[in-house]
Amino acid sequence: MSRHASAVRARLLILGGGYVGIDAYRAVMRQLGRQVRRGQVEITVVNSTPYHTFHGFTGEVLGGVLPLERTLTPLRDLLPQARVIEATVTRAELPMQRVHVQDQAGRTSTLCYDHLLIGTGSRDPFERVPGLREHGWRLKDSRDMQAFRAHLAQRLADGQPTTLAVIGGGFAGVEMAAALRERLTRAGVPGEVHLLCSGGVLDCLQGRFGGLAAHARQALQRAGVQLHLGRRVTEIRAGEVRLEDGASLRVNEILYAAGIALSVLPGTEELPRDDAGRLLTDDFLRVQGQTRLWTGGDAARVRHPARAGDCPVNALWAMKHGMWAGHNMARSVQARSLKRFSYRGLGQVAGLGRGDGVGELFGVPLTGAAAWWLRLLFFVWYMPSKRQGARAFAEMLRPPRRRGTPASALQPTGG
Ligand SMILES: Cc1cc2nc3c(=O)[nH]c(=O)nc-3n(C[C@H](O)[C@H](O)[C@H](O)COP(=O)(O)OP(=O)(O)OC[C@H]3O[C@@H](n4cnc5c(N)ncnc54)[C@H](O)[C@@H]3O)c2cc1C
Repeated sequence: MSRHASAVRARLLILGGGYVGIDAYRAVMRQLGRQVRRGQVEITVVNSTPYHTFHGFTGEVLGGVLPLERTLTPLRDLLPQARVIEATVTRAELPMQRVHVQDQAGRTSTLCYDHLLIGTGSRDPFERVPGLREHGWRLKDSRDMQAFRAHLAQRLADGQPTTLAVIGGGFAGVEMAAALRERLTRAGVPGEVHLLCSGGVLDCLQGRFGGLAAHARQALQRAGVQLHLGRRVTEIRAGEVRLEDGASLRVNEILYAAGIALSVLPGTEELPRDDAGRLLTDDFLRVQGQTRLWTGGDAARVRHPARAGDCPVNALWAMKHGMWAGHNMARSVQARSLKRFSYRGLGQVAGLGRGDGVGELFGVPLTGAAAWWLRLLFFVWYMPSKRQGARAFAEMLRPPRRRGTPASALQPTGG
């Protein structure tokens, strides 16, 4: 319980130590830092792991350019004034303003709140793709990523020919395919990388930025990635990807990057959601119809403030949602009026291997080295730990090792 229970005026409970959770914490601290340090406001963050995972450099981690630990930062370093609880949230009792959590040892506890922020993100869509859970590598959880890295490193060290399939032609899939292709080449191991997409490469860039999508497609082809466009994957089996048209592809390893699914926290079933399960928000990042419930990021559907439709689902928007939700939560505690979410975006960028990329910044298209540098600087700037960012920057500029990089132990580095 609280160190200053009698003096506590507000208990802020943040579920999830991802982008939403961290930026919400920072926004609250900017406004209520003094009250938090005096024990008048309590911030508690619950996360299933003790560290934050930065997914932006997934391609570089797979490609052996960055160690996995570069993307993991202990939450206690990032949230020094918060009570950080490593546990899984199992149930909410919204009318009682409390949630139940369970730690890895099976111990349960109950946390009460005045304001609750749901920033628990998304999960892999197991039910959408039969066989994904059993035969596909997932990369959202750093423990899965570590297992894949170790497995791949072993294959390459043994010189085993390796055929890899990446499913998903969005930013994550494209970056992974490019990075893995580079890694096989560097390791001098015979092998193939296949990229399978139900649509085209980077369809999200079609229309105004169609030229960027075409650049990405050509760069992947030049690098030797085999493209299977307009081909939906219906099932994953051991060493085999099955496609909608009845064809199948024999491969050694299958990586999945084609979409997300949402889990509904028991006790929150009554909250308004869209068909995908995302919580609906008002213009202040509150869950619609609620005054003490906040959300953002992958878990939420937030209307874009400047154009028709919703905010994109990615880390930058999750950060901005978290920032706004935290800011408004703090203003609620101070009984001040709330600020309407008004962030308009910055751009988007994808890496296509060392020194190449595509992107746009405020609508200005970029390709090649300019896009690669933009992405590097952008990611380093937005990493939650500046020290990790500086290390990543230096490592990205270092010439890559020719043979496979040994898999390191899963150990987050101090922030
Ligand atoms: C492989 C991969 C690559 C990506 N690459 C990019 C990229 O290059 N650029 C980009 O912008 N975006 C990228 N994304 C997307 C980006 O990571 C997400 O949009 C972003 O993480 C969403 O932030 P969030 O805070 O909503 O969720 P998250 O960052 O996922 O944080 C949610 C947190 O909640 C915790 N949690 C969930 N359920 C519970 C529970 N019941 N109890 C306790 N804790 C719980 C999780 O452990 C997690 O730490 C990538 C995603 C993946 C998976």
